[in-house]
Amino acid sequence: KYQREYRERRRLFNLVQELRGNIRVLCRVRPALDFEENDVVVRFPQDGAVELRNAKGREKSWEFDHVFKSDADNAKVFEQVSDLCTSILDGYNVCIFAYGQTGSGKTHTMEGPEHDRGVNFRALDRLFANMRERNHGGEWEFEVQVTLLEIYNEQIRDLLADKAKQQQQKKLEVKAGKHGMHVPGLTMVTVTDHTQVLRLMKLGKKNRSVACTDMNSHSSRSHSMLSTYVLARNTLTGEEARGKLHLIDLAGSERVSKSGVQGARLTEATNINKSLSALGDVIQARANKQGHVPFRNSTLTYLLQDSLSQDSKTLMFVQVSPVKTNAEESFCSLNFAARARTVELGKASKHTSKTG
Ligand code: ADP
Ligand code: MG
Repeated sequence: KYQREYRERRRLFNLVQELRGNIRVLCRVRPALDFEENDVVVRFPQDGAVELRNAKGREKSWEFDHVFKSDADNAKVFEQVSDLCTSILDGYNVCIFAYGQTGSGKTHTMEGPEHDRGVNFRALDRLFANMRERNHGGEWEFEVQVTLLEIYNEQIRDLLADKAKQQQQKKLEVKAGKHGMHVPGLTMVTVTDHTQVLRLMKLGKKNRSVACTDMNSHSSRSHSMLSTYVLARNTLTGEEARGKLHLIDLAGSERVSKSGVQGARLTEATNINKSLSALGDVIQARANKQGHVPFRNSTLTYLLQDSLSQDSKTLMFVQVSPVKTNAEESFCSLNFAARARTVELGKASKHTSKTG
C-alpha cells in the first residue's frame, strides 16, 4: 500500500513538472561575512523575490521559483530539489547547475562542508534510500554508476583517475552513443551505498588538487561535474528505465576585464566564457524555439546535449553575494538566470523501453 501511495505521489510530482516544463531557477543568497556586514544591499520584498541596490543606487528586483535567504542551510535547500534528483529512477535526465561569480557559494551549495553536506552527497544518499524503499517487494533492480570530471580549457579531465591513469588516457572526448552522450575511457564506478560515494568525492577532490598550484583560482576557472547513471529494471515485466543526473558546479561567471589578461590566463578566460556563453546560447535557442540549438559550441553543452533537451529536467541555482562590492556581478547573474527561467523545455517524457 505504501508503495502505491508513493508511486501516486511521484506520478503527481512528475505531472506538475511536465506542466511547468520550464527551467526552474532557485536563487540562493549567501550570508555576509563578518567584514561585509555593513555593506549588505540585498532585500527580500516577498516570497520568491530578491531585490538588490547597486553602488549607483539603482534598485531592481527579480522573481524565481524559490529564493533562499542567507539563513537557509543545505538541508533546507535540498528539500527543494530532492524529488527532482530521485526522478531519475523513473527514467528522467536531470541537470542541476550552480551558477554565479566566484565566492557566491556555488561549491557550498553543491559540495558543502562536512557538517552540512551539499546537493551532491544528499542526492546520492536520497537515491539509495529511495531505491531501498521501492525495492521492498524485490520488484525493481537498480544499477548505479558515477563519474566525476572537470572541464578546464574545454578539456575533460577524469577526476576518478589518478595521475598515472590520467597520463595513459587518450584525450577524453564527448561522443554520441546508444544511451546518449558519453565520454569513452572515462572512469565509471558502480556504487551501492553512500559511503562509497563519499570516498569517491574525496578521491576526486584529491585528484583535482594534484597538478594545480592554486586550487582556488583553478576551481573558479573550471566546471566540475558529478554524474550518476541509473538503470532500473523491473524483474516482473522486464521494463527498463535509464536516467541520469548531472550535478554541475560551474566556473565563476565574472566577466574578465579586457585589460591585463594575457597568455595562458587569456586562453583560460576565453574558454570559461566559451562554455558559459554556449550554455546561455543553448538556453536562449530553446527559449526562442529555434530549430538549431548550438550544443556543439562547447564541451559542456555537447556533453549535456541529451540532458538539456526537450525531454529532460533542468534546474539552476543562481548564487549571489549579498553585498555592494559584488552588486554589479550579482545583477548580471540574476539577469542571466531570469532569462533562463522563461525557457520552455517542452514536455518531459520517460526513456522507457521494454525488453525480454
Ligand atoms: P564559489 O564556489 O561560488 O566560488 P564558495 O562556495 O567557495 O563560492 O563560497 C565562498 C565562501 O563563502 C566560502 O568560504 C563558503 O564557505 C562561504 N559560503 C558560501 N555560501 C555559504 C552559506 N550558504 N553559508 C555559509 N557559508 C557560505
Ligand atoms: Mg567554487
